[in-house]
Amino acid sequence: MLMPPVIKGMSVFGVRGRKANEVSLLLEEYEAIRLLDHQMLNQEQAAVVMNVSRPTLTRIYEEARQKVASAFVEGRDIVIKGGHVTFDQNWYKCNTCKANFNFHEEDDPNCPVCESTDVSSLNEYFKKA
Ligand SMILES: [Zn+2]
Repeated sequence: MLMPPVIKGMSVFGVRGRKANEVSLLLEEYEAIRLLDHQMLNQEQAAVVMNVSRPTLTRIYEEARQKVASAFVEGRDIVIKGGHVTFDQNWYKCNTCKANFNFHEEDDPNCPVCESTDVSSLNEYFKKA
């Protein structure tokens, strides 16, 4: 996966007590929706990008759509986390100015926008199951 999602999830509007039954969307499920429904790739192309077989891609996509539909119809939050996806680069979020950026070296990244060293690894966040 090129980069982590820009969001960690989505929250519903106008429903009480929703936090208890949030839907967990795996990274590969997010990626399948992104590639097929946002980038408009076909399933053959998306399977190549995700490095999975076509039947596997179809299964991931069906699961993803079912989860999104449950969240939408039942009024449940979506949390994007976990799964079996690796990112191409090390991505960070600046805790000072909220910018997302990538950094090639492993140690001591600082924000290219505000130069803050108060940054969090997005890769580590999204890999926690
Ligand atoms: Zn910053």
